[in-house]
Parts: sequence; C-alpha cells; structure tokens
Amino acid sequence: MQQEQLSAYWMPFTANRQFKQAPRLIAKAQGMHYYDSQDRPILDGTAGLWCCNAGHNRTAIVEAIQQQAATLDYAPSFQMGHLGAFEAAQALVSIAPEGLTRAFFANSGSEAVDSALKIALAYQRAKGEPSRTRLIGRELGYHGVGFGGISVGGLVNNRRGFGHGLSGVDHLSHNKGHAGRFVKGQASEGAERADDLLAQIQLHGAENIAAVIVEPVQGSAGVIVPPQGYLQRLRQICDEHGIVLIFDEVITGFGRIGAPFAAQRFGVTPDMITCAKGLTSGTVPMGAVLVNDAIHDTLVQGPEGQIELFHGYTYSGHPLAAAAAKASLALYQDEALFDHAREMEGYWQEALHSLRDLDSGIVDIRNFGLMGAVEFAPEGGRRAYAVFEHAFHKEDLLLRASGDFLVMSPPLILQRSDVDAIIERLSRAIHAQR
Ligand code: PLP
Repeated sequence: MQQEQLSAYWMPFTANRQFKQAPRLIAKAQGMHYYDSQDRPILDGTAGLWCCNAGHNRTAIVEAIQQQAATLDYAPSFQMGHLGAFEAAQALVSIAPEGLTRAFFANSGSEAVDSALKIALAYQRAKGEPSRTRLIGRELGYHGVGFGGISVGGLVNNRRGFGHGLSGVDHLSHNKGHAGRFVKGQASEGAERADDLLAQIQLHGAENIAAVIVEPVQGSAGVIVPPQGYLQRLRQICDEHGIVLIFDEVITGFGRIGAPFAAQRFGVTPDMITCAKGLTSGTVPMGAVLVNDAIHDTLVQGPEGQIELFHGYTYSGHPLAAAAAKASLALYQDEALFDHAREMEGYWQEALHSLRDLDSGIVDIRNFGLMGAVEFAPEGGRRAYAVFEHAFHKEDLLLRASGDFLVMSPPLILQRSDVDAIIERLSRAIHAQR
C-alpha cells in the first residue's frame, strides 16, 4: 500500500497521520469475522461499529440489496414514494414498543437524533406550548455529530472546539461509577438520580422544556447502565411535566440488549425512539425516528394538501436501505436473534467479569445485554489503544478503544466458543500490554 493512496481520505474520528503510517485495512467479512487482504480472519468483537447485529455478509440481506439495486436504484422521497419504504416502516413499527406506530426515515443515527429533536420542538409548538424550546440531554451522552446531537450530547471532546452548539440546552448528570465498580448489569440502587430532571425543571421551568433525550444504556461513553428504576422515574417525571421523552437507541436497538429495543427490555415506553445501525445490520446507511400517535397526530393535521413537517432528506427511505432493513428485520425474526442475544448475555457477563481476576490495571468492567466495557486506570487512553492494537495485530480480534476503556458489542449470532475466544484473546492482549 503506497502512502499516496491513503492521503485523500480524511478519516472520521481517527488519528489520521498515525493510522496512515500503519493502516489497518479490512478486505472482506463473513459471519463473525473480518478478513484482511492476506485472508487473515479477525474475530469481530464489535459488530463493526455496534451495527452488524446479524453478523457479516448474510446471504438473505446481501441478495435483497443486490436485487433492489438491479430493480430500482433511487426514488424521490418528497411527494413521491416507493413501496419498499412503506414496507420497511411497517416492519419496523411492528417490533416497536406499543404506541410507537410511525417511522420517519433518515440516513444515520445523527440525522435520526436531529430529526427527533426537531419533531419534539414542532410538536410542543403545534400543541400550543411554543415556550417549550429547551432540550435536555445527559452528561457523557453520545447522540451523533449534528449540531443538535453534539448540543444534547455530553462527551466533551465532541463538543468543545465547535462553538456553543444550540442555545437552551442543559444536561442531566451521568450515572457512571455511582453504584461502585465491577457492577454486573444494572445496579439495584440509584433510581433517585433521575430526580436530577426535577432540578432542571426547578431551574428552567417545565413550561420551557420540550424534550429529554437519553441513551437507555450509554454506549460510546463505555457502557454506562442505568440503575434499576431510573428510566421509569424519568418517564414518570416527563409525564407529570409534559416533557417529551426520547430514547436514543442507535446502539441499544435491534437485539443488542436482548429485546427489539431497550424500551421493551426495561419496560419503559418513551415518546420517540431514534435508531440506526442494526436497522440494516450495518449494510446500508439508514436511521429512523419512531414516533407515538400523539406526536404524529398533533403534527399531521391541518389543511390537506399542505406539507405538515418541513423536514426530510433526499435519501429518506432510500430503496437500498429499505430493502436492507426489511431483510435484516426478517432475518432477526427468522433466526430469533434477539432471543439468542438474551440467552447469551449471562455467559457473556461472567466471561467478561472473569477478567477482573487479572492483575492488570483494570479499574472497572461494565456490561448489559451483549454490550461490554473494560476500563483501565486513567492514562490518556494509551493503554486501551495499545491493547486494541495488540489484539488486532497479534490476536486477530477487533475491539474498540475509546479513551481509557475498550468496548465490545459482538454480532448477535455469537456462540459460547466465540465468547471464550474474545475473552481469551483480550486477556492475552491485556497481559502483553502492561
Ligand atoms: N446516537 C447514538 C446513541 C450512537 O451511539 C450513535 C453512534 O454511535 C449515534 C447517535 C450517531 O450515529 P451515526 O454515527 O450513524 O450518525
């Protein structure tokens, strides 16, 4: 590989100069594995980037995309449609929590988030409460990289350096570490931390707050799990104060935590859900906002023939994405992959926490569903990155390093032998990079 071949592509969220000196290139994929150009299999511990939930290059999805590309490449989505987008929406709402009956399509998680925030603002205005313009996110939240998303997001590196973001945004405090370290799954104590929203209401006035957006389990910040009862409490406060509750399920959706959505797993139904990634098992970019009847019906009214919501994308409901979504959702169902993920999570949890016994500098391990994080003592991310590199090059294992922690989110098709392989290889990599 010539250095010049790599120069044009300015890579996202990457140390470009470092990467281009020692590129890690993937050539193909199948099932639980990536392969490099030498055909070296690399076990995928991250489902790509939390997205290839059905595993890689699944025939049913590949064929659906191929067939669609040969039949209808593109159809306008403004004032025009094609059946596939309607069918994909139908398939999506059929697995959504009860009451979330409409799907608005975008092309990524970031777009889904910004769409949801705009819909929340439009809804409050349409129902006669135009003063409700304030948006509340949460510290350490990741909601993509649009201006809306970075404003409600709470990961400092993604915010600073880009001005002030949207005005009228505030944040709940995060739940990291409050229940101690090495907690398996959800902590039993701490639901009252959701009362932070009451403090925000006290500060800003409920009549000025449009929406609260949270990831049910914070993914990018390193798998931060809500205490039992926390999401229920948030729901209750939002109900009492007329605030729209949005769950950002870009990571937690589509079986990642053993149910179609975290909303069902935790038994809390938000007013909107944003999703992407697993919607097409990562094959074709697509995002969506699932919306409840009250919001939809409030906005979709007025004189017929008038556009109800001045929002959308050239590629909303793109034929290839719609075909990929339909095929992915069908495959999840045919193979009962969400149930399989649920069955695997206990084994995953115990395997992951077995790393605690290593005399290794690990300061915390967190997990929920098929999500996992291993955190090292703070040292500017050096250790986590070294383990990630070592695992990739020497142990044929793909992990994700972010700051001082590693995150994992394997494809839902994984078996116990894959869990064993991930943990053994990770353990060796951790030992090798002390
Ligand atoms: N929201 C959450 C919770 C995410 O984890 C992500 C991406 O990881 C996004 C939004 C942004 O999605 P995208 O990268 O598709 O824009």
